[in-house]
This record gives sequence, structure tokens and C-alpha cells, in this order.
Amino acid sequence: MADCLFCRIIAREIPATIVYEDERVIAFNDINPQASTHVLVVPKQHIETLNDLSPAHDAIVGEVVRRAAAIAKERGVSAGGFRTVFNTNRDAGQTVFHIHLHLIGGRSLAWPPG
Ligand code: AMP
Ligand code: ZN
Repeated sequence: MADCLFCRIIAREIPATIVYEDERVIAFNDINPQASTHVLVVPKQHIETLNDLSPAHDAIVGEVVRRAAAIAKERGVSAGGFRTVFNTNRDAGQTVFHIHLHLIGGRSLAWPPG
């Protein structure tokens, strides 16, 4: 997707601080971090929102979630806790329409979210 910000990061057309990459998944630091750890875990496949998932995506979604947990462990926030969020569409404030799992940790997080 030529006009998708995260596809452009995957294609190295836009710089990002990449913290993990394999054939199917990339993870990079959020440009506007909300905590000391704020990583976006992104499937390389362009999927606009969670509303577009089918059973064929189960494996990649599982990989994204497990990768977030692995990065949390590397960062030392597993035991203390962390939050993982997929924002979907307007009411959740989704701004980039290529699904991404926010991994946020390193401080105490309020609940319920705003
Ligand atoms: P969302 O609002 O859930 O769609 O999240 C999009 C996230 O992408 C926001 O937290 C932004 O700060 C982040 N973001 C936007 N542009 C970039 C970029 N060039 N590199 C890294 N993160 C970005
Ligand atoms: Zn994309």
C-alpha cells in the first residue's frame, strides 16, 4: 500500500527505530511514546482494522500478540505489567489504518482508559 505509513516504514521509505523484525512481523518505537516502553508491533501484511480480520489471519495475529509479550519480557516490564491495545476506527482514535498492537509499559497505567 503505497500511501500507508506503516507499509512505508516496512519498505524502509520512512525511518523508524526498529526493535524487532522477521519475515512476517516488524516492531518499532512509537514516535510519540506514552511510557518508557511504547512499541508498535505490526504485521507486515496490510490489514486496515480488526474489522477486516478473517480466520486466515489467526496465525499472524497470534504472532503479533506473542511478539509483544516477548518484547515486554526483553524490556523488563513483564512482571510489573504492561498494556496491549489495538485501536479500531474513530471512537478508539485509530489514526493509522494498518493494524498495530501498542505495547505500553514502564509505569502504572490508569484504568478505565480515557
Ligand atoms: P493509532 O492511533 O492506534 O492508530 O496509533 C498510531 C500510532 O502511530 C500513534 O501512537 C503514533 O504516535 C504512531 N506513529 C505515527 N507516525 C509514526 C512514525 N512515523 N513512526 C512511529 N510511530 C508513529
Ligand atoms: Zn499498510
